[in-house]
Amino acid sequence: MKRWNGWGDDSIHAHLPNGAARFLESVIGAGENFPDASFDDVLGRVPISRLAAPFTKKFHPLVNTDADVRALHARGQSLPDWIALRSGNLDAFPDGVAFPQNDAEVREVIRYARDAQIALIPYGGGTSVVGHINPLQNIPTLTLDVSRLNRLYELDETSHLATFGAGILGPALENHLRARGFTLGHFPQSWEFSTLGGWIAARSSGQQSYYYGRIENLFAGAHVETPLGELELPPFPASAAGPDVREIILGSEGRAGVITRATVRIRPVPEFENFYAVVLRDWESGVNAVRELAQQRVGVSMLRLSDADETFANLMLAGHTNAIQFAQRALNAIGYGAEKCMLIYGVTGTRRETARVRRETENALRAFGGLPVPFLIGNVWKKNRFRAPYLRNTLWEMGYALDTLETAVPWSVIRETSNVIKQVIRNGLNESGERVLVFAHLSHVYNDGASIYVTYAFRRARDANETLARWHKLKTAASHIIVAQRGTISHQHGVGIDHAPYLIAEKGALGILAIENSLRAFDPYGMMNPGKQVVGSR
Ligand SMILES: Cc1cc2nc3c(=O)[nH]c(=O)nc-3n(C[C@H](O)[C@H](O)[C@H](O)COP(=O)(O)OP(=O)(O)OC[C@H]3O[C@@H](n4cnc5c(N)ncnc54)[C@H](O)[C@@H]3O)c2cc1C
Repeated sequence: MKRWNGWGDDSIHAHLPNGAARFLESVIGAGENFPDASFDDVLGRVPISRLAAPFTKKFHPLVNTDADVRALHARGQSLPDWIALRSGNLDAFPDGVAFPQNDAEVREVIRYARDAQIALIPYGGGTSVVGHINPLQNIPTLTLDVSRLNRLYELDETSHLATFGAGILGPALENHLRARGFTLGHFPQSWEFSTLGGWIAARSSGQQSYYYGRIENLFAGAHVETPLGELELPPFPASAAGPDVREIILGSEGRAGVITRATVRIRPVPEFENFYAVVLRDWESGVNAVRELAQQRVGVSMLRLSDADETFANLMLAGHTNAIQFAQRALNAIGYGAEKCMLIYGVTGTRRETARVRRETENALRAFGGLPVPFLIGNVWKKNRFRAPYLRNTLWEMGYALDTLETAVPWSVIRETSNVIKQVIRNGLNESGERVLVFAHLSHVYNDGASIYVTYAFRRARDANETLARWHKLKTAASHIIVAQRGTISHQHGVGIDHAPYLIAEKGALGILAIENSLRAFDPYGMMNPGKQVVGSR
């Protein structure tokens, strides 16, 4: 069953190897597992629904006002969400959750919400990490869960296009496609629990976006139910017919309407795919090597360069302590010391083509001092690609809070930006005498720059408000630095509530006005997911 207050399936527990636990303790101190609130504690806080009785009666079983269903749709997966759920300090719940099964039912729910003047929040998998699906306090809210809009409608094998209900989850979507020899190739780390509609509405990026493309490259068309009517976006291969309306739906975060179906660009399942590891002596040579590969357009399907601290942490997490220590000593002896950085790259395609790409990649990397390491590390990454987030549960139970943030900047400022972000986070809790473990990787690379993905961990406090204050301090400091470095406030997680204050810096006042006016064209009532992408909404 899906965990109600953490990540993933509750039958899966990630084990933290002893060496990694000792390392964490030595860097940020011993954690203490303060007890969490129970689900019953949370249920006790769910207020009486403000939905008018005729509505719930009329739509039953479309709308559910049970306390447990409302509690399960109250928060997503951001660290503030975790802190609220684990402490039981929840201040807002949806007044009901609708589970429509077709466009007509979605229309009916939108009409009701409009007439009753209540807010409507489209809800996909609830994996948002920026407060996208959280109801606002004091605003009566209906959440519209799209999980029943989960069918395959059409698979056009000739055109390589597939149309699905927007509520379909990653694994179900891939299963449909693989059964016919195709793949979408969109694998965000949240893939098992996030939906097609959520990927589009939050402008998501999969781990192999370098090869398959970001969701905006894969998103060909859609059907959207909006407060002002139906919007049909046909899947043209390309079009010069004025501005592209798909661009307003991409990243709309539930504010334009409900995406009920989407057409995506698919590919035949590749004959071969694998992942390999190479170590580089330090971050500088690693960044230069990755830039070179990206700009030479060597045909890899993924490039993921960890900084020295992440490399060390990943090696600790890989377990096999003795083997890893032996490998570390051997690498040390040939000049790959504490500053070494691990690069994982993927190859995807025919056997022949991937063998060529692997040869070319390793040759190019050798020019930067890259040293291929045994097969194992790439395989470990592949095996754990969707398992790593489970460690967040384990760490929480050991008394540690873990969060991630990300941006993207041009190559010319990559090293400086990653350094200053890490520095402000590392020193962010100095005043209170708390230490922070922080590391980063480049995971999505482009011709002109790359995303910087930062992970940080700190000790939880007994008082949940203090833990939240620690997070807020770190997040605010990092966000200000990102803005100062002229990075985007989000490369892949979206805006929601947490990034809203920083949006103006990259869009400008006129840009914000253009976005608001475009969204208002679909929702003049301001009823769709209010407060998101808007400063001061919490
Ligand atoms: C462990 C973890 C790993 C992650 N890894 C990645 C990653 O690798 N790449 C990445 O890009 N993101 C990642 N994320 C973030 C998150 O998974 C993505 O933002 C994802 O796209 C959200 O999809 P969802 O279905 O869960 O949407 P939700 O969280 O349910 O909703 C997100 C937003 O989309 C809107 N929305 C959802 N469905 C619809 C619809 N049908 N119509 C209109 N609006 C809709 C909601 O209103 C909300 O504003 C990760 C999150 C976690 C917790």
